[in-house]
Amino acid sequence: MRDIDKIYIDGQFVTPQATETADLHNPATEKKIGTVRLGGIEDAREAVAAAKRAFPAFSRTSKAERVDILKRLNAAVAARVSDLTDAMALEYGAPQTFTRFSIPHAASSFLTMANVLEDYEFERRIGRARVVMQPIGVAAAITPWNSNIGFITSKLATAIAAGSTIVMKPSEMSATQTQILTECLHDAGLPNGVFNIVNGLGNVVGAELSRHPDIAKVTFTGSTAVGKEILHSAADTFKRVTLELGGKGPNIILDDADLDVAIPSVLRMGFINSGQACIAGTRILVPNHLLDDVLARLKQEIETFKVGAPDDPDAMIGPMVSQKQYDRVQSYIELGTREGAGLLTGGLGRPSGLDRGWFTKPTIFTDVNNQMRIAREEIFGPVLSVIAYRDEEEAVSIANDTPYGLQAYLHGTDAARMQALADRLDCGRVVINGAPHEPLAPFGGFKQSGIGREYGVFGLEAFLEPKAIIA
Ligand code: NAD
Repeated sequence: MRDIDKIYIDGQFVTPQATETADLHNPATEKKIGTVRLGGIEDAREAVAAAKRAFPAFSRTSKAERVDILKRLNAAVAARVSDLTDAMALEYGAPQTFTRFSIPHAASSFLTMANVLEDYEFERRIGRARVVMQPIGVAAAITPWNSNIGFITSKLATAIAAGSTIVMKPSEMSATQTQILTECLHDAGLPNGVFNIVNGLGNVVGAELSRHPDIAKVTFTGSTAVGKEILHSAADTFKRVTLELGGKGPNIILDDADLDVAIPSVLRMGFINSGQACIAGTRILVPNHLLDDVLARLKQEIETFKVGAPDDPDAMIGPMVSQKQYDRVQSYIELGTREGAGLLTGGLGRPSGLDRGWFTKPTIFTDVNNQMRIAREEIFGPVLSVIAYRDEEEAVSIANDTPYGLQAYLHGTDAARMQALADRLDCGRVVINGAPHEPLAPFGGFKQSGIGREYGVFGLEAFLEPKAIIA
């Protein structure tokens, strides 16, 4: 049992003024593992005040000083990869197949940003003007539970590179991971107030940060519903916003795909992070004439996606994060059947042999049409829909017929054809044949998947205001 009773303000671990607590659970066992004391509105305001005090000096630091800070942050986080991995396994249930990549990646986001910063020109001439990119002011970051460590590090790295100070409100369900990460960040020895971390409820601390007049920018990762609320609150003081929201990614198998290669890749993209991923490719689009073959192969391949607790090195899919998330996923599985979809594999209940923990069966629906709710709404669990298409035109039209537009996947052999198809998809990223993540390329969504971009120069400029000085 671990009781987390501190938040981080102005370079110190402090006890929140608010006294409410929330329970923390191990999703693989459903057992309570600790509590977190939640910050309140006053705590959020103190954190904003600290970040505001730190801003004038920090915004004038040199590029070299900030590169040095980013390198120190990288070293401090990299030094505790194994503690962070354990915490993510315990509190989130992340399988080793996910933590092996995601924790080192979280540490490296500081180095990636240091490289971006080294090459970035904060001043340029445009005609008669000297254009200066100025740090935006105090930023707020609000993050979800599905990759807590990575979201905090990437948003913090970008704020630091830009010369902004920041107040972060992570998901209250991720407090164990946040605590260890905060200890790492503290060890890096940044000036007081440059970053502040306040655990708390979204509708308390998150809402206060979204409306506080001293916050110049909100960077949010989470659901589309909460993103809309933040956008409304931010409007009163014209905060800049970056919103990374939900997705319903098309996972398109083309008629020239090598199915031996494509099918495992399709499922990896569909079940990434136990299906609790905004970027999951949850709509599998299949040419009509390949449908029977693809369904048979999906059914066979899914057997290799072992569901299990994080201590099982072979597990590819862990539990859902909470009872609420488990119930939500179950309700969508029930809905799919009610809507008339067929069940290729999976279904209601837990996988056999796992009678406790919020484990759900990896599920694939067939006979899905793109108007069904299971094809339109983000389920956020390992539940995929197979949708058949006639020709390339219809594939593009189904892929784009969604309120979302985050990440799409193409599987085929003709590179030029896939590049041309990618140009026609309305989404922020298109991944061809399971290509690895590119941390320097912009990330973000079209339509209701969000506003703005993170990562690389695009992410950095979202923390900067251009100023033209004309003589
Ligand atoms: P959520 O929207 O419920 O919560 C996200 C964060 O917002 C949490 O810290 C929460 O406390 C806070 N929050 C809740 N209500 C708030 C309010 N009124 N004002 C301010 N903050 C508030 O999302 P979640 O359930 O934690 O995460 C899952 C969602 O996140 C999914 O929809 C998923 O698609 C999305 N997501 C998007 C991306 C992306 O990069 N596009 C990445 C991961 C997750």
